[in-house]
Amino acid sequence: MQTSPDHCVICDAPLTLLDAATQPTCRSSACRWRYSTMPAGEKCRVCGRPLALAERVSRLCGRAACRDERMREWRQWRDRRREEDTALRAEAAALRAERAAALGIADAESYVVALTPAYVRGGLVPVPRERRRALRAHLTRVATAAIAQPDAGSDEAPDPQTDPALPPAVGRLLGTACATCGGHCCRNGSERAYISADTIRRVVRKEPGLTVNAVVARYLRRVGKTSHDDSCIYHGPTGCTLTREMRSDTCNRYFCGELAQLKRSVERGSLTRVFLTAHRGPAGELATSAFVDATGA
Ligand code: SF4
Ligand code: SF4
Ligand SMILES: [Zn+2]
Ligand SMILES: [Zn+2]
Repeated sequence: MQTSPDHCVICDAPLTLLDAATQPTCRSSACRWRYSTMPAGEKCRVCGRPLALAERVSRLCGRAACRDERMREWRQWRDRRREEDTALRAEAAALRAERAAALGIADAESYVVALTPAYVRGGLVPVPRERRRALRAHLTRVATAAIAQPDAGSDEAPDPQTDPALPPAVGRLLGTACATCGGHCCRNGSERAYISADTIRRVVRKEPGLTVNAVVARYLRRVGKTSHDDSCIYHGPTGCTLTREMRSDTCNRYFCGELAQLKRSVERGSLTRVFLTAHRGPAGELATSAFVDATGA
């Protein structure tokens, strides 16, 4: 929503009522030209006034009316998301009852609903040569940096899902949740797969003497015949084609909001039985689902 200014947003001259209703500037062609050529990121998202440098991050000017309007929009968005979430959870509970009846599970309600996103974008296609080339270029760059400066950067932590501190049943539960989702969080992996020089340093520390070419070849070999065309190059038909040891810390340690909450609850022991289901977008249909007992039973 735009609020009408009563002064030209460029030269601060008072505006006539008509001008204020149609333009944020006065009639001077210099003001109009300056305003029309100004990038959107330099104008308040509510009233359209040019922003001071410090205001550009939030794209909001300092006027109370604009801040209130933005807050109102945010509350509306939050309430809509809450309603969608409540509706989705009710749908998931109905699905749980239906699947439990079909599988002969008597106490369906003892399985707490966990609602992860679902990967729904691109299809599976043979990996194009350009994608392989882009991956090779990225790997060569990070492997060269890692091997030239083996002690630089910061240590990548061990993989939490093979961490002996994490009970195997919890690791399995998290793995099942990601399989149910299908890798929604891999969609931004592109041809870099979050692999950094630090990832390669970790690999080389385990196998000293590995050359740049050997590292690059090893990673290139893990690219499958097909992968999702709008996701990470390693996002294959059955999930990630890299071994856990070869994946970046980002991949090994990231949990989406729902999964992080699930992990905390299972670790605390406040939750053992879970009905995992994945949804296609905030108001989307429910995709796959699974009943899982985190105790391994
Ligand atoms: S972390 Fe969350 S978004 Fe990522 S694959 Fe697992 S369930 Fe899906
Ligand atoms: S490397 Fe594997 S886990 Fe990481 S983004 Fe790509 S497909 Fe996902
Ligand atoms: Zn003006
Ligand atoms: Zn404003």
